[in-house]
Amino acid sequence: MLSPHLPFPTPSVFVDPVDADERDYFRTVIEERLEENRAELARLADSTAPIEPDVAIGRLSRLDAMQMQQTALAQQRSLQQDIRNLEAALERLAADRFGTCHQCRQAIAFTRLQAQPAARICGHCAERIR
Ligand SMILES: [Zn+2]
Repeated sequence: MLSPHLPFPTPSVFVDPVDADERDYFRTVIEERLEENRAELARLADSTAPIEPDVAIGRLSRLDAMQMQQTALAQQRSLQQDIRNLEAALERLAADRFGTCHQCRQAIAFTRLQAQPAARICGHCAERIR
């Protein structure tokens, strides 16, 4: 989710790596997403705890509880992956490598980075891989 209160930087020439304003913008966007994901992960912690064999879970059967736990575990893995990707994106920002395609070394389109700030490859390479 993009932050509505953030000023929207005008995309500069797409072939250039992100400029300083864009870096600040993406840093804020990525940090906000990280915060959201970490909060979500914390909320999930209860649902992913091991289920005691004799636990009474209201009207839920143990099987239901285990299914919900499986769903929560899958969500947890996906959030953890997102968090790792976002942290890696922050590191690329710090190292001034953000916005460059990992495959072809060309600039990743601004709009693609807006949609997926953690994107490591450009749209063309993503198409090729698929
Ligand atoms: Zn590429």
